[in-house]
Amino acid sequence: MSREVTNLDAKNATHRGRRLALHFTRLALFVGVIALIHLQHARLAVRRRAQPFPAVDMQVVRRLFPAAQSLAVHQGGRGRRRVLHSSGPSLGFVVQTSPTSDHLIGFSGPTNTLIAFGPDDRIIGIEILSSDDTSDHVARVVDDKAFMDSFDQMTWEGVSIRGDVDAVSGATLTSLAIRESVIHRLSGHRTSLRFPEPLTVVDARALLGEANSIEQDDDLLSLWHVKDARGLEIGSILRTAPFADNIVGYQGPTETRIFFDVSSRVVGVSIGKSFDNKKYVNYVRDDEYFLALFNELSLAELAGLDLLDAEIEGVSGATMTSMAIADALISTAEQQRLAIEAAGQSAPIVNWSLRDFGTAAVIVGGLVLALTSLRRKKFLRTSFHFVLIGYLGLINGDLLSQAMLVGWARNGLPWSTAGGLVLLSVAAFLVPMTTGRNAYCTHLCPHGAAQRLLRNRLPWRLRVPPRLSGVLKVAPALLLVWCLFVAMGRLPFSLVDIEPFDAWVFRVAGWATISIAVVGLAASLFIPLAYCRFGCPTGALLGFVRLNAHSDRWSHRDSLAAVLLLVAGGFWILA
Ligand code: SF4
Repeated sequence: MSREVTNLDAKNATHRGRRLALHFTRLALFVGVIALIHLQHARLAVRRRAQPFPAVDMQVVRRLFPAAQSLAVHQGGRGRRRVLHSSGPSLGFVVQTSPTSDHLIGFSGPTNTLIAFGPDDRIIGIEILSSDDTSDHVARVVDDKAFMDSFDQMTWEGVSIRGDVDAVSGATLTSLAIRESVIHRLSGHRTSLRFPEPLTVVDARALLGEANSIEQDDDLLSLWHVKDARGLEIGSILRTAPFADNIVGYQGPTETRIFFDVSSRVVGVSIGKSFDNKKYVNYVRDDEYFLALFNELSLAELAGLDLLDAEIEGVSGATMTSMAIADALISTAEQQRLAIEAAGQSAPIVNWSLRDFGTAAVIVGGLVLALTSLRRKKFLRTSFHFVLIGYLGLINGDLLSQAMLVGWARNGLPWSTAGGLVLLSVAAFLVPMTTGRNAYCTHLCPHGAAQRLLRNRLPWRLRVPPRLSGVLKVAPALLLVWCLFVAMGRLPFSLVDIEPFDAWVFRVAGWATISIAVVGLAASLFIPLAYCRFGCPTGALLGFVRLNAHSDRWSHRDSLAAVLLLVAGGFWILA
């Protein structure tokens, strides 16, 4: 008896081991395809960045400069290009947000925006050059004149977010990313023409005595990191140039350096080069009391400092120069704060809005229902379906889709702008991988919930013959194959149009996605969960990574996944 039990235990252990080994193989295939999509996109992005001046479509330029004939390299550099009239004179200049702002992802990818400056160096408009984001969302942004005009008349140095212009309704993530990319492109990457010299270790030692090396920040060019002999950062220096080059004292601007310690508090201010009156600048340079007035402030506190409220008066005999320096410190701190926000550097890794917290609450509710015996309570289940449809679907538009997953595989997860949606995706994949329950399809997907509510609404239903059912069930897998070819081959097809999920954001949805949604929901009146069973690639993908009773057997799906990995590898090698 005990030998039989031992044999049974050994058999079970072998079975469990095989099941887990195959499950991890399956997950490795899935991760391998995602990794190849990401690597290929990263390689193309590197190639794009390697081009000193990526091509700009003149048709787009002419929407902002109707008389434009050609573009020429601008002497100011940094990717600026002069816009030339056919007769020669310059009409202004343009810059594009890519590749500088490519890390700012909207719904499913970054957008390359053209920023046009008129002859007076003020923005006259922006135009979308290209986008990896969802086309319907981008179209919605382009149609929003108030949003597209929201940077008009701003200068390169003074670019900021206009408080009276909101994100575009129905395309919130896309519009926020476009806005952030414009600000990041201009705020994070500009150099001073008046104070072009780099800071040196000697400059750093003025207030950070142990300075041994100094490096300019990769993204925020006014910020310099100071390190000691061991290579440890001991503080940083924020230059007022070029942020405050337009603030003139008695007869010119002054470049001032704000020193921060490792806890990001001001430890002192020093005066650099100046175009102001030399005597007045020296008065300020020698006034230790005035220069120490800003000590202990954080960047945000300095940005919000009111000179009147703080009773900060100028240096006697050099009032205009000293007050201009004080103004420059505050203006620089404010613009740096905005630039850091746009670059996502000071923002917490997860910068959640009310919408994200709402989505997180729904996820928790869905998981509790899916993973406990509460799922058997019909009333709770049905009530939750209405929450999914009304809140997660119609209000938030938070649904997984292939367009979104491919976009994220290429560009990374938008934790800071779409935390709730990212969390939903993590839950959707992790739960079936680890527990075997496809909680997303059963308890979180609004489109699945709608089909479940429609089920059995009619007194009769259609029976799909087993053979036809077998053929129809191939459709989701074929759609996944299509998604891979579009992703790896960079084919110009929108993945939004092969699924019904964008139709939940009906204000921006195209006819293809709406048609699939309507037909799928109508079909579910006759055939329970018709779309889920015969049409959904996202459901098929979640089913593939799910740990289940048959995980110990190599199936056709596994063979297909292995072939797709090879295909993706082939694309990657040939790209
Ligand atoms: S199969 Fe597709 S539509 Fe159905 S619940 Fe799952 S993700 Fe939603």
